[in-house]
Amino acid sequence: MSDLERFRAETRAWLAENCPPEKRGPMDEDDHCFGGRKVRYKNEAQRLWLERMAAKGWTAPQWRRGYGGGGLSADEATILREEMERIEAHSPLTSLGIWMLGPALLKFGTEEQKQKYLPGIVRGEIWWCQGYSEPNAGSDLVSLQTKAELVGDEFVVNGQKIWTSYGHLADCMFCLVRSDPEKPRHEGISFILIDLASPGISRSPLRLLSGSEHFSQVFFDDVRVPRENLVGTLNRGWDVAKYLLLFERQMIGGMRTGETKTLIEFALEHLGADRLREEPMLRAQIVDLDMQNAAFQAMVERYQAEGAAGKALGAASSMLKYFATELGVKRHEAMLSILGGAGLDLDGDATGSARDWLGALANRIGGGTSEIQLNVVAKRVLGLPGA
Ligand SMILES: Cc1cc2nc3c(=O)[nH]c(=O)nc-3n(C[C@H](O)[C@H](O)[C@H](O)COP(=O)(O)OP(=O)(O)OC[C@H]3O[C@@H](n4cnc5c(N)ncnc54)[C@H](O)[C@@H]3O)c2cc1C
Repeated sequence: MSDLERFRAETRAWLAENCPPEKRGPMDEDDHCFGGRKVRYKNEAQRLWLERMAAKGWTAPQWRRGYGGGGLSADEATILREEMERIEAHSPLTSLGIWMLGPALLKFGTEEQKQKYLPGIVRGEIWWCQGYSEPNAGSDLVSLQTKAELVGDEFVVNGQKIWTSYGHLADCMFCLVRSDPEKPRHEGISFILIDLASPGISRSPLRLLSGSEHFSQVFFDDVRVPRENLVGTLNRGWDVAKYLLLFERQMIGGMRTGETKTLIEFALEHLGADRLREEPMLRAQIVDLDMQNAAFQAMVERYQAEGAAGKALGAASSMLKYFATELGVKRHEAMLSILGGAGLDLDGDATGSARDWLGALANRIGGGTSEIQLNVVAKRVLGLPGA
């Protein structure tokens, strides 16, 4: 037995023993565990699953053991992912700390910052949110105006963030601030870490059409942030911001929609074979979308294999993000056609409902809109001249 085969066998046995039955199968909204200082678990199984996975460092499988991670090689991490998918194990932690801040800290953080933050991220002790967007800085993020003035050993922060996912619930924010308004726009930005329990912060959730409160506005009024919370070089935060965005787009692009069925299976379940036979246009649409999905999954696997071989994804993360989210909308539109009136219930959380469709529309915007991804692909992947 090769080392990898042995690792697969051990992983399979460990998962069989340690992944509670409640943490397998399709995920509902409350199956996501965000961790945090005031963590609330859906049930004991959720708590146990996070505790067990974190103890092995498998919430961040490839981070070094010294930082609390699993210390796995790329091949071992792929095996772990495959074995989790095989039993439909839930991700133990839904965490921007793991997906976005961690990689940025690993590249730009000081050793002290890595020791201070990474182990807590692995264990889900802090709920991190992302403070990038502002009322006048979304696609044109470099226009951001939240000011951070360095006074002695502290930044004094004033301004506002908006569309902060779970900003009203999170403990801390990784945040872009304008630290030198005199410099050219890209060169006067810093990347700092803010404890949202600090005096001078107020937050208000934004209620969405779907009824959920996913976003919030976060206001800063003379908020004092220790200088040691600066990640990377002062006024060079744009480099950190762009690097982190690669991981955000990769994460959204590689994200599974929670659908475990093909559209054909979905249609057979809800319409039945006889009805489907009478709907040639719907049948053609469904087959086309299932084929696109299969092609997309092949593309994801290709990039995963390249990643395992040590090749950075870079701007191709925009390609994944664009295709995944556009396809997601089309698939949800097809599901609505299949469900008919039954899909219009905004309060229902059944797969394929109007609520799901609204979520798919939002995914086209979060992490940078589809148009922005196309601009990146044109410039950085295809090498076309800028507009
Ligand atoms: C689900 C979701 C989660 C989010 N979470 C967060 C978060 O946690 N933290 C955070 O900071 N932000 C978050 N956002 C905000 C998100 O990053 C912004 O909404 C996004 O970058 C677009 O910015 P905007 O809303 O200001 O739209 P605008 O930038 O005003 O864009 C409006 C329209 O103009 C188009 N457009 C703009 N510029 C160009 C261009 N150069 N070329 C072609 N078309 C262009 C856009 O594509 C869009 O259609 C989230 C958004 C969503 C939907």
